[in-house]
Order: sequence, then C-alpha cells, then structure tokens
Amino acid sequence: MINFIFFYYPIFVIISMVIQMENILIIGAGPAGLTAAIVAARNGKKVTIIERNSKCGKKLLLTGNGKCNFWNKEQNITHYHSSSPLIKNFITEKRQNSVLSFFDSLGIIYKEKNNYYYPFTNQALTIYNALLLECQKLGIKIINDITVEKIIKEDCFIINPEKENIKAKTIIIAAGSKAMSKTGSDGLGYTLAKSLGHTIIKPLPSLVQLKGEESYFKNWSGIRSHVLASLYIDNTLIKKEEGEVQLTNYGLSGICIFNLSGLAAKALDKNKKVEISLNFMSFTQNYKNFLKDLNKKSSNKTINELLEGFLNYKLIDIILKKANIKRNLKLNTLSEIELNKLIENLTNFKIKITSTNTLEHAQVCSGGVPLEEINNETLESLKVKNLYFVGEIIDIDGDCGGYNLGWAWMSGIVAGKNVK
Ligand SMILES: Cc1cc2nc3c(=O)[nH]c(=O)nc-3n(C[C@H](O)[C@H](O)[C@H](O)COP(=O)(O)OP(=O)(O)OC[C@H]3O[C@@H](n4cnc5c(N)ncnc54)[C@H](O)[C@@H]3O)c2cc1C
Repeated sequence: MINFIFFYYPIFVIISMVIQMENILIIGAGPAGLTAAIVAARNGKKVTIIERNSKCGKKLLLTGNGKCNFWNKEQNITHYHSSSPLIKNFITEKRQNSVLSFFDSLGIIYKEKNNYYYPFTNQALTIYNALLLECQKLGIKIINDITVEKIIKEDCFIINPEKENIKAKTIIIAAGSKAMSKTGSDGLGYTLAKSLGHTIIKPLPSLVQLKGEESYFKNWSGIRSHVLASLYIDNTLIKKEEGEVQLTNYGLSGICIFNLSGLAAKALDKNKKVEISLNFMSFTQNYKNFLKDLNKKSSNKTINELLEGFLNYKLIDIILKKANIKRNLKLNTLSEIELNKLIENLTNFKIKITSTNTLEHAQVCSGGVPLEEINNETLESLKVKNLYFVGEIIDIDGDCGGYNLGWAWMSGIVAGKNVK
C-alpha cells in the first residue's frame, strides 16, 4: 500500500496542481463578473463566483428602470471617462465590436430606440436569466451569501482565511463601485484591491442629480423642460448637453444633467465654483427675432401669455421675477435693456450647484483602480500576478445610455478570454 502511495503520489500532486491551475475565482456576480465567468468557462476554465447577496445581479435588474439599456449604437471614446489618457487602450473598436456577438451567443433578441439598445422583451430579467442559464450550462459554480472581506496572496490567493478559507490560483475582482450600495457594491472591492497593493482614485458619484439652494426650487418642482444645459466650472464653459431636464425641489435631474454630473462632482470635490446654465430656447438661434415674431403673430398677448407657448407657467413666473419684468406687460413695451435681460434669463438661466446627490442615488462612480496599474491587453493587475479587474471597479465610467453596462460586458469579455 505504502509503495502504491509513493508511486502514485507525484501523479496525484500533478493532477491536483492542474485542477488548481484551472481554478478561477470571481468576486461579484454583477454583469462584469458573470460575463468574465461565461467567457472563461467557454475557454475551458473551471470557474467559481462568490456573490455576497443571495441573488446575483441586483443592480443589473434595476438598470434602465427595469428595462436594461444594455448598449448604445453610437460607440466612441467620448462617451467613456477616466482620469487617465490610457482609456483609449481600454475602450477599443475591437472590444466594442465584441459585445453584440456576446449577446447573440446568449440568444438575446434586442431592439434599438434612438441608439439605445434594450432586450426585445423590455425586461432586464431577460438578460439576467440568459446570463445565469449560460453559467449553469457551463458548470460555473456560484456561491451566494459569502462576502469576501479579506484576500491574502501567498502561492495562491486565500479568500477569507479566518472563515471560509477558499483558495484560488487566479482571482477576478468584479465587485463594482460604491454607487447604490443596497445592491451589494458598497466599495469593499476597493478595500480588497488596496489590500493587494493597488491605489484607488477617489470614487465620486456620477450619473446623479445636482443640488442647489435656490428659494425658487420649491416653485418649479415637478416641471420637465427641454433645455440645452451647460456646465460652468470656475466661470469656464466645460460641457454642454441637450435634452429633458427635471426641475426638482432640490435642484436638477434628468439624463442631460446626469451626463454633466461626473465633472461637476469632481469640481465640487476640489471646492471649485460649479454652475449649470439652462437655455430654455434651444429650438432657435436668433432669440430676439423669435420673440418679436411671436409677438407679431399674437399681438394681443401679454409677455407671460406669449411665453406659455413654449414654457411651463410656473417657470415663466420664476424667469420674469429673476429678470425683474412684470408679467402683464406687452413685449413691445420693453426697453432694449429689459428685452436683453429677459432673453438672458430665458437662455442663460444660471443655477449655483452646491453638491451632488449622495452615492446612494448615483447610478455609477467615477474613480477606482487606476488604468496605469492594469495591463490594458488582459486586464491583469500590473502589481499582482493572476489578479484581474473587470467592470466598474476600474477607473472608467460612461455616459447615460448603455455605456456603463457596455464597459461591464467589454471588460468581462477581455478578462474572460485572457485569464490564466
Ligand atoms: C438604478 C441604476 C440604473 C442603471 N441603469 C443603467 C443602464 O440602463 N445602462 C447602463 O449601461 N448602466 C446602468 N447602470 C450602471 C450599471 O448598472 C453598472 O455600471 C454595472 O452594473 C456595473 O457592473 P459591475 O459588474 O462592474 O458591478 P455591479 O453590478 O455593482 O456588481 C458587483 C457585484 O459584486 C458583488 N460584491 C461586491 N462586493 C463583494 C464582496 N466583497 N464579496 C462578494 N460579492 C461582492 C455585489 O453584490 C454585486 O452583485 C445603472 C445603475 C443603477 C444603480
């Protein structure tokens, strides 16, 4: 018997090493982690996912108001943001082209509306189910209800050494950011990355509402208006976005505001002056002629009645008060100075922004693991061998419109293909 063990022992060791070599452990079963798992398993790897929630993909199910805007037809680098210029090596055309083939391979039928892609069913659940079904078919083991709190790197990685003591040769951290922590991503991924020697670029809310302290907010709450919104930082125009804005009792919301919010959050964090200017007349370029023309067509109307043609009545009161113009005057009785002041308030209505809404309300975070610390070809850490990052934990965030999930899929595919 002893002879038998001695004879076969090296073979047992080699077999167990081979098994361990194939063992990939993914932390987080969000869109990025599930994608990495599927692609790695399709490449013959043995994959295990640890997810702290009893249900995977909680955030995924909330996306696009439950409809999941999972991709955008208009793919160019300007929709993705990072503090590093290296971003161009991470968001490549080849990676963008890989996403829809991945969805085709999952059998998901999708539709496009104004460049936004949704599953044909209009349900995030369709994508969620397809991902989990594929995991099941590929034999990917998903362990729920374990929070990875500690990772030690020795010959292999040891996860939660004092508790579950799980060992893995390779790990992929797919733990998300700290936006909307009730979904499970509460920033613990950053702590794990730090404990393994990485730095973290300060996570700040992005795709979030902007707040101010103006007394008129209570009067405009509930109004939606089409605007051209401009972000000014320290009096310099930084970025413009056109679309529907929601005027609320704390300030501003809506997609165009969300797309300005990441830059606003970074500026506020540095104590810079942040303002949003709203142009309520973005449908024309020649404001004065437009108003004079409107007045000619309806010469019996007072100013507030004229403005009701394109503005909510509550907003008219606020604008006229700010411009110090009486509502029942006729437009042609205004002096040139008064007319200019009216136009200034209609087209450059400035709001001082004092804060963003909290991380709990943000859709994503900017910041995370710096691109300089990650191999752009493979998404492997440049500091720790066999450690990979995917998804929102990396210092890349996107505009509203499917770009954040876009990065989750793209990065999951890259790491899944390259993981060893
Ligand atoms: C309300 C809302 C709507 C959104 N809508 C859209 C949209 O329509 N289109 C779009 O492109 N983007 C949208 N986003 C953004 C998008 O959902 C995220 O960018 C994306 O989910 C990030 O994927 P991820 O896999 O990197 O992280 P996550 O989805 O956050 O997944 C991370 C997973 O890791 C788990 N985890 C974290 N830490 C640990 C740990 N220590 N141990 C074990 N498990 C852990 C978490 O529980 C979670 O399941 C939306 C976000 C929100 C909040």
